[in-house]
Amino acid sequence: MSDTPTAATLILGARPYGEAPLDLLIKDGRIAALGEAARAQAEQLKAEQVTTVEAEGLIMLPGMVDLHTHLREPGREDAETVETGSRAAARGGFTAVHAMANSSPVADSAGVVEQVHRLGRASGWTEVYPVGAVTVGLAGERLAELGAMAESSAQVRMFSDDGMCVHNPVLMRRALEYVKTVDGFIAQHAQEPLLTEGAQMNEGDVSAVLGLPGWPAVAEESIIARDVLLAQHVGSRLHICHVSTAGSVEIIRWAKERGIDVTAEVTPHHLLLTDELVRGYDPVYKVNPPLRTGADVEALRAGLADGTIDVIGTDHAPHPTQAKECEWSAAAMGMTGLETALPVVIKTMINTGLMDWRRFAEVTSITPARIYRHAHQGRPLQPGEPANLILVDAEATQTVDPDGHASKGRNSPFRGMELPGAVRATFLHGHPVVLDGELNTPLSEASAGAAGSSQVRP
Ligand SMILES: [Zn+2]
Repeated sequence: MSDTPTAATLILGARPYGEAPLDLLIKDGRIAALGEAARAQAEQLKAEQVTTVEAEGLIMLPGMVDLHTHLREPGREDAETVETGSRAAARGGFTAVHAMANSSPVADSAGVVEQVHRLGRASGWTEVYPVGAVTVGLAGERLAELGAMAESSAQVRMFSDDGMCVHNPVLMRRALEYVKTVDGFIAQHAQEPLLTEGAQMNEGDVSAVLGLPGWPAVAEESIIARDVLLAQHVGSRLHICHVSTAGSVEIIRWAKERGIDVTAEVTPHHLLLTDELVRGYDPVYKVNPPLRTGADVEALRAGLADGTIDVIGTDHAPHPTQAKECEWSAAAMGMTGLETALPVVIKTMINTGLMDWRRFAEVTSITPARIYRHAHQGRPLQPGEPANLILVDAEATQTVDPDGHASKGRNSPFRGMELPGAVRATFLHGHPVVLDGELNTPLSEASAGAAGSSQVRP
């Protein structure tokens, strides 16, 4: 036995995946023991080295992994920074986020992705993985330095022009071919630009009544259809960002049946909200792709339940207040999402009986980690695995108050809504970055031998 004290945490009575309660011991950043062995091993440690967390009734899950986050830094620190976005992620139960490339400057070079990666490590609230742009400046004209970003210290594996569609099929083909050489993948923002020029909302009955230019479903579906065929043609990996229409779900289902290597994500807001909300002209509901119809929401929920859609991606898109509190046509597109994702997925998928907690863990953690090929995230809750995990109070309800969020963004479409579930604790490599539902300390300040006891239950 070593004399060096190391911080250990004994979690009492939490229910892994909502199943039978178990005790769990965390030591040296990993799950050290489960069940009776956890208490036995904790007793062998000096009392001052062990923090005890009473977690009776709480559900234990692997830490959530978001493949689609906008952290805005560098360049738009008025909207969000890596630090504030990481805090929001930790509070929301995310132990890893992937920062989209549409910063200023764009993350299309080794220098920018290394900067974002460094800022993430320094903040220490969650793991931050920069996404590299597919094309220089997101301009859709020539490929960015994908190889240099992959070989940089950030080791980028995910490439996306998100916010813009890679609409040139020759460039898209080349990008898909290129990422094969670095075992990477392309995440496509599927939006045919010529079909959506000036679009302000979903094209349908509501846009006809309001007289707003419409964003038709076919603009998304035609790009997805083209890209799954391109991915098949070159034998590469394709991920579809924020699927929003029933037709897109059908195309992805068809592609998967043919064995095409495609994965897809849906946002929490597209699982709950519809274009009926636009009738009030509140720009908080302006988002890209737009809120669709009730029939689309039903198809997205069914697709997520049956595995056609693989993962939840938040598309967390914070904006400064003045960019959203203006007239509809001038307002920026996007909504915050990191701190409301878990409650919205519980409301739309768990409390409706469409999925259980095992499937919840798959779509929020295990599968997104597998898509990126992370070795430390989305792992089983088993001894020896890194202790990236969360404790959730599924019985709690909360009234969403974005003014109290850790994100700088106040543009939550869920403001004032009563939603089920709350993240009580987030452990990042064994360190409680969130405890008792509040931010604790970042991993960078974790001190060996720190101890105490915590009542996680409210
Ligand atoms: Zn997008």
